[in-house]
Amino acid sequence: MTLSKSYKLVKHAITQKEATKRGLLDPKMAWNQGAEMSKDLANGLAEYLENDIVWLKVLLKQLPPLPKCKHPKELRDRCDGKWYCMGCNEDLE
Ligand SMILES: [Zn+2]
Repeated sequence: MTLSKSYKLVKHAITQKEATKRGLLDPKMAWNQGAEMSKDLANGLAEYLENDIVWLKVLLKQLPPLPKCKHPKELRDRCDGKWYCMGCNEDLE
């Protein structure tokens, strides 16, 4: 697995876990209405996810910095107004 793929995967996992956590804590959701037990369960799960998120963020910091793209300019292309390299898929300034 390449390093930039690792970055993307970890960031994706964080985003997903944060979205799930928000859903669990959303007062409008069924599990947060009525039975106290389901509310407690949702809160417990959200806490569990928060631990995962913290851990993933620590992991992200431990990853070595991404190597700068050294591909020739011919490989540069624009996507959604942003330059990126077709050789390594890295976003360029
Ligand atoms: Zn490149």
